[in-house]
Amino acid sequence: MNSDDPHGKRSLFESARPTDPSENHARGRQALFSTAAPRPGTVVVECSQCGEHKRIQTGDALTRILRVSLWVPLLKHNRWMRCPSCERRTWCRVGWLD
Ligand SMILES: [Zn+2]
Repeated sequence: MNSDDPHGKRSLFESARPTDPSENHARGRQALFSTAAPRPGTVVVECSQCGEHKRIQTGDALTRILRVSLWVPLLKHNRWMRCPSCERRTWCRVGWLD
């Protein structure tokens, strides 16, 4: 009777340990911060000041653009906005399809 109880508890603890979901979560966050592959709902902002490419949410990019509405289509870095990497107001390129 005594040997049956600890056995049941052990199997309970083993099933409760979430090893696979946490690994998937970490991998998902890594993919979110990398700028390698296009991801739906995000854009890549390239800064002319610090040269950083940063992937941010499309909504975040839109608020940054709408806060200061300067857009010069002829330039490569054609958006005057706050850079998500260095937080300076400078010319950035927003890769909507990146
Ligand atoms: Zn920057």
